[in-house]
Amino acid sequence: MIFMPQTIFNIVLDVPLNRTFDYLSGGFAARVGNRVVVPFAGRHLVGVVVGLSETSDYPIEKLKHVSHVFDDVVFDSHMYKLLKFCADYYHFPLGQALISTLPLRLRQIKPAVSRKQFSYSLLPNVDASQIPVRKVLMHRIIASLQIKPSLTEAELALISPGWRKAVTELKNLGLVSAQEAVAVKASLPTSSVEPQLNDEQDKAIKSVLALTHQFKPWLLHGITGSGKTEVYIQILQKILGDNNAQVLVLVPEINLTPQLEARFRSRLSQYPLVTLHSNLSESERLQNWLAASTGAAKIVIGTRLSVFTPMLHLKLIVMDEEHDSSYKQQDGMRYHARDVAMVRAKQLNIPIVLGSATPSLETWFNATSDHNAQKQQYGLLSLSQRAVENAVLPNIFCIDTAKSPTENGLSPILTKALLERLARKEQSLLFINRRGYAPVLHCNACQWVAPCMRCSARMVVHLSQKRLKCHHCGHEQKIPQQCPSCGNTDLHPTGQATQRLEQTLQNLFPTARIARVDRDSMRSKDALTDILTKVHNQEIDILVGTQMLAKGHDFPHLTLVGVIDTDSALYSPDFRASERLFAQLMQVSGRAGRAEKAGEVLIQTAFPQHVLFHALRSQDYVSFVNELLQERSAMQFPPASYFALLRAEANDFSQVQQFLSKAGNLARALLANQLKPEVMVYDPVRPQMERLKGMERGQLLLQANSRAALQRLLKSWMPQLRELPLAAKIRWSLDIDPLEF
Ligand code: ADP
Ligand code: ZN
Ligand code: ZN
Repeated sequence: MIFMPQTIFNIVLDVPLNRTFDYLSGGFAARVGNRVVVPFAGRHLVGVVVGLSETSDYPIEKLKHVSHVFDDVVFDSHMYKLLKFCADYYHFPLGQALISTLPLRLRQIKPAVSRKQFSYSLLPNVDASQIPVRKVLMHRIIASLQIKPSLTEAELALISPGWRKAVTELKNLGLVSAQEAVAVKASLPTSSVEPQLNDEQDKAIKSVLALTHQFKPWLLHGITGSGKTEVYIQILQKILGDNNAQVLVLVPEINLTPQLEARFRSRLSQYPLVTLHSNLSESERLQNWLAASTGAAKIVIGTRLSVFTPMLHLKLIVMDEEHDSSYKQQDGMRYHARDVAMVRAKQLNIPIVLGSATPSLETWFNATSDHNAQKQQYGLLSLSQRAVENAVLPNIFCIDTAKSPTENGLSPILTKALLERLARKEQSLLFINRRGYAPVLHCNACQWVAPCMRCSARMVVHLSQKRLKCHHCGHEQKIPQQCPSCGNTDLHPTGQATQRLEQTLQNLFPTARIARVDRDSMRSKDALTDILTKVHNQEIDILVGTQMLAKGHDFPHLTLVGVIDTDSALYSPDFRASERLFAQLMQVSGRAGRAEKAGEVLIQTAFPQHVLFHALRSQDYVSFVNELLQERSAMQFPPASYFALLRAEANDFSQVQQFLSKAGNLARALLANQLKPEVMVYDPVRPQMERLKGMERGQLLLQANSRAALQRLLKSWMPQLRELPLAAKIRWSLDIDPLEF
């Protein structure tokens, strides 16, 4: 008899325990990266094999057998190393970290059947008259293809669930052709000519291409419209020219920047490109993810989660708008995609290009501060001019609302400027960062304002639906007829928001074509693309919108940007508020004067002398950010120090208080033998939003001068926290490098 040593699989599972689990092979063969199904606590769970061994720390006779092994491999050794790093750094269970990065289909107990996805387009010179009139669906599909040259399966399914049969008939009639979805071509009209690079662009591209076989972070700091995208494209062209190479392009929110994807598709059309973001159907996401992980897709454009996409031949990472806070995950494993991308590039020994008009203070510090060890590594590339010939930066002015009071949110100066644009048939954009009709409902008799019952927040008036909505917890109710506090029936929506501004403008300029862009008006998938197309075709005169409009759109006929009310951010308790506001205003200003027509930006404010506006008027990001950096280092705020934030919430605040003060004491005890504690432990406080979704909240801040010192403490502290009796009763989480407080 031959004695076969039992093979033991080390498996990670999506459970909140920070360890791997050993299972017997049960006769299955597996390799690292395979998905398996195992029995766990009376259920079956999907797990992933992260190691094979012949011994276990547990008694062999107590180990269970795996129930099934799928033959798909869901990560490679690089991804494992990256996820292991993240699990350690963010103090999050490895299994949950790993499995949460997989497409949903791979987290389910079934084989990842990856049926090929196709998209369909019209063949040239189609004669629809050969389709019988009664075949309504076939006609509808042809009509849709005449508007959008290529439709994916998901888009066809929206037209009718019976699309498959109709498309097959259309194919048989020779009217329509199918392409594997990976290789879909550009769908938006763009120019595909290669512009003559200017000197700064040329230098940036050459610098990056000179060092492609080593870890090298670059900051591409270029004002809006300076041609950063062109720089990315030309770097990609060279790198993808090498056999098999893949590149990962990270963007904050794909659906807000359809132009970026279209430009990549049209300029790099020989390379299969897939996107990964939350607007995909689950089967598209799986399909694209697999195309990336097998190396079939050469370009992956994705949002923050896609930083975890396995890519066998990854040779470059590009992160556009690196300062954007949507790169930070706000629940589960609270990673920052920029930091993860940096670690990934380092592990793979490849370059990474971070691009922005207003780099984050963290990145700016890394790339410029003489006292920073990172500085040796970062390369700073600047684009200081607008790329399009004759396009100049807009002139920025403040309108002092004390001297020129607003009526319905608009000062006479801004109204006049809008009128001038209408007369000249140029476009205007009004930026107001609040959706809805009015931010509060107010009683003039007793000063009551409608609060949210579940949050420390006010309800926003949505007049068209006659409802009050909380933008923090989603709670809604009818607008009350009378004041609940004094019975007064004269309640007023107070303050400005997008819908009210739209209405005001429509009253002032009855013939103007006005469009509103905010999360309410952009619910459907193609709504934004439709509006952008209309703006391009000059079918819209005035755009009203939130920061959704600020991101990377090119509006050549737009010559006026009006900023309605951002004063609250000037004196916000959040130490990052001015950094954010500056970036936002710079971006939204960047929408004006993109082409030959000069642009003008008018900012309504009660504080025209504020330093932020001085810097903005002179378009001087560098001196503004250097001033902010000095402030931060004087106050020992990031990036001059490192934060970790322990958050807790419960129905009963005393439990939160108790948990946090115990946690604080434990941390202090761990630091007690240090002469000068390397981590500062603050007292528990309530966050700005004290109550959210009915939960009472509290938080405890830790601060250190180095990441290493902070990590040393967290490593001993976290296991102790998990043991606290209250740890299982309340909700709590640790946020490393938090962005919100
Ligand atoms: P950014 O990404 O920095 O905002 P873009 O890459 O979108 O800037 O460039 C702005 C505009 O300038 C685009 O219309 C682009 O096609 C054009 N452009 C870029 N580089 C050049 C160049 N070297 N010459 C002429 N036009 C250019
Ligand atoms: Zn009242
Ligand atoms: Zn609420």
